[in-house]
Parts: sequence; structure tokens; C-alpha cells
Amino acid sequence: MTGVIMQAYPPGCGPSTPAELVALLRRPLGELLPGTRKASALDAVVLLDPEDALSDDAMEIVCDYTQALFDSEDPATAWLPRWAWQRAEQIEQELFQTLIQAGDAAVYTASRRFLIEHPAGDTRELAEARGRSGARQVARYIEIPPDRVFRFAPGADGQCWWSCPVCKWPMQVRGRRVECTYRPHTARFLVGDTGVGSLTAPSLVKVSATRLRLLESHPVVSAVCVDPAVWRFVVVPGVPELDLERLLHSHIPEVGVALYPIKDTFDLLVTAPDGRTWSVDVKDHADPQRVIDDPPSADHVVVPTYRKGQLHQLKRALSGKSVWTIRQFLNEVSDHVARGGSA
Ligand SMILES: [Zn+2]
Repeated sequence: MTGVIMQAYPPGCGPSTPAELVALLRRPLGELLPGTRKASALDAVVLLDPEDALSDDAMEIVCDYTQALFDSEDPATAWLPRWAWQRAEQIEQELFQTLIQAGDAAVYTASRRFLIEHPAGDTRELAEARGRSGARQVARYIEIPPDRVFRFAPGADGQCWWSCPVCKWPMQVRGRRVECTYRPHTARFLVGDTGVGSLTAPSLVKVSATRLRLLESHPVVSAVCVDPAVWRFVVVPGVPELDLERLLHSHIPEVGVALYPIKDTFDLLVTAPDGRTWSVDVKDHADPQRVIDDPPSADHVVVPTYRKGQLHQLKRALSGKSVWTIRQFLNEVSDHVARGGSA
């Protein structure tokens, strides 16, 4: 690795030993490469966090590029968590194959929606909710991973977990810090003072500035959650897809919204009362280049509000497609409906 970086620099510049390279891994990525290149969205990413573990930001990039970076023989697979080097495509293929085989489009949509809305919970409650929803069980649920469990008293009853207010998957617990490891969810909390040593589960204090619902703790006994890979590659991208569906329903009730109308071809089909339709793909990638390299099939590409910095680059690269934030897309549809569908 040091050799690769040294080659990019003129002789005598840049890191010349592995130790110097490692020191740079704790600095923004932009400092690691010579200044003559084009600026990139990734320049600010720091690879190693203060505990010298792979940072959450770095993990996001890994998730965007797993297929491009690794095959299963790569030595990097020894230090990355198993789910991170499993190819996103492989996970999606396995899961989506099960989904597609699950039945007609209605069962497909119900099963995929169920995973996104119920990525974790009490085993019995999940089974009951699945029964009511018409979804099939298409992914395995596992015990709450140990790094997502808080111990406030001895014994199995002295363990609890908290779901992220955005994606509902268990948040990571590091000492008293409780955070969703998908950074854009900005869910950051601290375990409240009364918790430690108490026999009842502690409550959380919000640290991030974002408006977030404070959720109650859940007992670890009898709780399960989807596999980290299913969370990262199906639940996380699914959250803004369902958000957009919900916002369209509540803001513009006149329009029809079909979620995953042709299984996994595109995400949403929006139909105005005059028959005008919009096919929509919601794209949530840390690096917009990932969307450009694998352009979506829908005519309208919608990015979550926290990705609005990508609009310019996506619009330029995806000619022939319209690119919006969720808010802008809502305005576009609502303006069309308000004009009586005349445009
Ligand atoms: Zn989350």
C-alpha cells in the first residue's frame, strides 16, 4: 500500500514508510494524495477513527464500492467485518431472488416493505406483524449483535438495546455513546446518568442537533434483528424510498403511488389524476459517482435531503434524467396537480 501511494507522488514527497502512511490514515483522505488531482467528495473522509477502527464514513465508501474493491480471496476480508466484504450485489441477488420467488408483485412489495419497516423487534411481535402485512419471511433475523447491547445490570434481563429513530435497526453502543452507524441518520445519544447500577433500563439523552424521536429501550431477551448486510443494503436505502411514498400520500393525496411496481425495476411509480406518470429511483450513495457508473432505469432520480450537495454533479452526468431532492420532487408533482395537470 505504501508503494502504491509513493508511486503517486514525485520522489521524496509523500509517505515513505508504512508507519508514515498509517499516520496519514488518521487524516482526511484528501491529504493522502498529491494536490494536482480534481477535488472529490471523498477528500474529507478520515479512514481510521480515534480508536483506530475503520471509521463509519470509510465504511460507507466500502459499502458503495464493495464489488469494485474486493473479491472473497482478498486479504482485506480478514480485517473488514464479514458483511462489509460480502458483495452488495450478492446480498441483493440472494435476497431479491427470494423476494421475487415469494409470489406476485403485491407479495414482493409487502415482503420488501416489511423488512424496511421492521428490521428489528420482539420475535413474537414481528411474527404477528408479518402475518397482518401479507409479507413472506424473506430474510433471516439474528440475535441483537453484542456491540449493540447495553448492560445495566447482571443477567440476561439486565441487557437492553435502542433502535435508531430513522432506520429502526439497533444502534451501536460504545461505552455510554449510542449511535446509528449509518452516519447520515445523525442519531447520536448518551446513556443517561440514572442508568448505570440501576435495575431498570436507562434512558438516552440526545446529542445530535437533528430533531429525532426519543425511543424507549427494548429488552435484549427475545429480540432479533435482520443481518447487518440486509440492514445496510436493503433497509438503509429503503428508508428514503418509503419516506417519499409517505410524503407523497400525505402532501398530495390526489396522486397514486405504487411502491416497487414491477418488482426491482424501479422504486416508485407516481400517477397524477390526469394520467401523467413519474418513474422514480431514490438513490442514497456517499459518492455520487456510484450512481453515475450504474445509472438508474427510472426517469426521475431523487436523493435524500442530506445528499443535496450531489445534485449538480448528478444532473450534469445523468443527461436525459431529472434529478431532485425529495422536497423538490414533491413540489414538482404538487405544482403539476395544482395546475390541473395541464403541463
Ligand atoms: Zn439509522
